[in-house]
Amino acid sequence: TGCRVCLTRNMSSSPPRLQGCMSAWIIDQYGSNGVLKYTEETTVPTISSATEVMIKVHAVSLNPLDVAMRGGYGAKLLKLRRDPLSVMDNDTEFPLILGRDLSGVVVDCGSGVTHFALGDEVWAAVPPWKQGSLAEYVTLTEYEVSHKPKVLSHIEAASIPYVANTSLSALVNGGGLCRDSSSNKRVLITGGSGGVGTFAIQLLKAWGAHVTVTCSQNAVGLVRGLGADEVLDYTAGDVVEQLEMMEKFDVVFDGVGGDTEEWAMGLLKPWSGAKYVTLVTPLLLNTDSMGLLDGTLNAGFSLQSKAIQSLLSSGVFYRWGFYAPDGPALDEVSKLVDAGKILPVVEAQFSFTQVPQAFQKLEKGHARGKTVVRVA
Ligand code: NDP
Repeated sequence: TGCRVCLTRNMSSSPPRLQGCMSAWIIDQYGSNGVLKYTEETTVPTISSATEVMIKVHAVSLNPLDVAMRGGYGAKLLKLRRDPLSVMDNDTEFPLILGRDLSGVVVDCGSGVTHFALGDEVWAAVPPWKQGSLAEYVTLTEYEVSHKPKVLSHIEAASIPYVANTSLSALVNGGGLCRDSSSNKRVLITGGSGGVGTFAIQLLKAWGAHVTVTCSQNAVGLVRGLGADEVLDYTAGDVVEQLEMMEKFDVVFDGVGGDTEEWAMGLLKPWSGAKYVTLVTPLLLNTDSMGLLDGTLNAGFSLQSKAIQSLLSSGVFYRWGFYAPDGPALDEVSKLVDAGKILPVVEAQFSFTQVPQAFQKLEKGHARGKTVVRVA
């Protein structure tokens, strides 16, 4: 096929760069699982700036975002983020590579890279506006990358970066929590059995918080094993009634959305800086359906009015939480993992030929931790 990655040196640039073709799962259009295509003809993403590192991918994990993006979710806003000034020759995002998490090995570094060297084992969460990790190689800026925990295999490590960057960004920026301010803070996590929940429970316990979790009956053992102090089975009866009988919370971290925000405000301590932070926001859906300007304005208006209403009626803050790329944050998580305070929760593994089956698994819902794909 001629599709091999090789070291080449051209006259104008040294040092030698990896070039050629690689295998990847791509989509050429949005749709259901049938749009996923395996190819060995994707161009290797070579280093194009001094601060970039190129990584040979060993394992990838999937997130609900991958299934949503396969169907076109966020397409308008992500396209704007990829090419804000519309200067790219190619006016299309296709072929698009999905996959956000990766664990792998550094195979090339830009001249200005200071934290990584060839052969380093690394992990990262690839921003959704960049080409994803369901590929042999990914190129990222060094700020987005971190050294992988030594105690984990690539498969285990790949299960953590995206949910870790999301939880940290949401809990620190939205929830006002951090390592030194969480001791004995009461936090409620809804959706505790999924990718984000299983990570956030362990992070908050490592930070000394008191953690209450909602999940289905058959996940109670899992989340207790990860350290949750109180676990409520939302399928067994009126979980809101049970939560209302408990001491009030400092932070509600919502990974379920829907009507949760209607009852969660009343569970927070009034007029004491308590915060409701939800990961389920309408921003990308709005920009998809209404266009960039109207969608963003509509989402901004909705956020503002809910924030004002929550403050005036319940004395609590209403916030949206988002994933943010952050290698240094992953460095901190790496230390917690190496210290045995955070364990990977890998529910299912698939080979690189089984990527469509991995998507099917995710689409069924009811995740208990993460689904991982072995690449190398
Ligand atoms: P997962 O699919 O891994 O987990 C969701 C979990 O929630 C499952 O274990 C599910 O199990 C459980 N669940 C479903 N309904 C309820 C309920 N009513 N009460 C309690 N638990 C419930 O998703 P993630 O953890 O990766 O993400 C959680 C949410 O956050 C998703 O909507 C995702 O799109 C969003 N997200 C947003 C980000 C952002 O930047 N804003 C970034 C990352 C995630 P079961 O159904 O068996 O109970």
